[in-house]
Amino acid sequence: MKCAEVRELLGNYMDQELTESMMQRIERHLLRCPACAYEARSIEQAREMLRRGVESPMVSEGTGERILRHLAERFPHLQRSRPADEQPLSLPLLPED
Ligand SMILES: [Zn+2]
Repeated sequence: MKCAEVRELLGNYMDQELTESMMQRIERHLLRCPACAYEARSIEQAREMLRRGVESPMVSEGTGERILRHLAERFPHLQRSRPADEQPLSLPLLPED
C-alpha cells in the first residue's frame, strides 16, 4: 500500500469506517512506516483536542453573547467609533455587578 493511499484513508481508518481487511492493511503500513504513523498520531491528537474543546468550552455561546450585549450597553461610544472591519476590540475590564 502506498503512503498516499494510506493518508487518504486515515480519517476513515480512525472512524473505523473501513472493511476489516482494509483496516488491517493500513495498520500494517503504520507499523512499518513512521511517517504515516506520525500522521495518524497527529490526526488522533487533533481529534482528541477537538473532543475536549467540545466537552468543556471555555465560554458558552450564551455567555459570549451576553458579554457583548453588556459591553454595547455600557460603552456605546466604543461601538460607534469603531469601523466595521478594524482589529477586534480588546475588552475593557468590567466592574463587578
Ligand atoms: Zn507511509
